Amino acid sequence: MITLIVPCFNEQDVLPVFYRETVAVLEKMNCPYELLFVDDGSSDDTLKILKELGETDSHVCYLSFSRNFGKEAAMYAGLRNAHGDYTAIMDVDLQDPPSLLPEMLRILQEGDYDSVATRRADREGEPPIRSWFAHKFYKLINKISNVDIVEGARDFRLMRREMTDAVISLGEYNRFTKGIFGWVGFRTCWIPYKNTERAAGQSKWNFWKLVQYALDGIINFSHIPLSIASWFGIGMTGISFFMLLFIVIRRIAFGDPVAGWASLICVILFIGGIHLFCLGIMGQYIAKIYTETKHRPHYIVAESNFEGAEHIR
Ligand code: UDP
Ligand code: MG
Repeated sequence: MITLIVPCFNEQDVLPVFYRETVAVLEKMNCPYELLFVDDGSSDDTLKILKELGETDSHVCYLSFSRNFGKEAAMYAGLRNAHGDYTAIMDVDLQDPPSLLPEMLRILQEGDYDSVATRRADREGEPPIRSWFAHKFYKLINKISNVDIVEGARDFRLMRREMTDAVISLGEYNRFTKGIFGWVGFRTCWIPYKNTERAAGQSKWNFWKLVQYALDGIINFSHIPLSIASWFGIGMTGISFFMLLFIVIRRIAFGDPVAGWASLICVILFIGGIHLFCLGIMGQYIAKIYTETKHRPHYIVAESNFEGAEHIR
């Protein structure tokens, strides 16, 4: 059986379209399936539509969160509650084309791979500045972390049960699923496809949210920023040694005229700035440790339409 995990947050416009298109593909695939929608605390009619679908179609399961916990929490809830031998995560806006599913299943069934993942081959329709930052982000994170994060990778992928269980076993509170998929390993086949625009409704991500997401990814999967302080320290020590030499020689050669207020202030401000910068980096990691040690649940389910749903995790 295949479980399709679909996180939804205020998606009343696109949900019926998604359901129609995806079921049409699944019906042709000749494989038992389950659609597991995770309503991430929507304030529109998303839950109402899910309830109606659940009543008319026995393939439709849903979990509904008590508030908006974010897409990462929704994906985690979906993975934990999926019953299928194969699981896939899909956006509801049809930017993850369901038409790829038969091909993905075929590749998995051939047995050479444990997961089939998708990546956007282009970023058409996206503001150029966003594409530029995204490109730099992937370059940076691949350089400073030891997990492999493929450029343009979507969360849309079909996995075998072994891999799903591995992803679930990483129970960290600060989740960055793109990194987690890379971390657990397994043989992954990548399918590139052409970027498509959202079928209806609005994107939940603005530029600053994406920047925050990128920073979270870096902090969750790399310790390099923490060593920046040491590198600055070594650099500054080297520079100050040469400045010391310069000042001592000048004192011996030219006497001691009172001067140098401007340069002194510059140096104090510069070093002060670096101190705060490094403290800030440490603060980011400490904040993550803090949220991690509180052991708060990732999500709280207010209602669901199937037995055995995990309500708090
Ligand atoms: N989503 C969610 N919770 C959130 C934000 C988004 O479950 O807090 C879901 C959303 O309903 C959609 C998917 O995550 O199914 C991707 O969101 P969106 O299309 O807005 O992101 P984009 O494609 O613009 O990056
Ligand atoms: Mg989208």
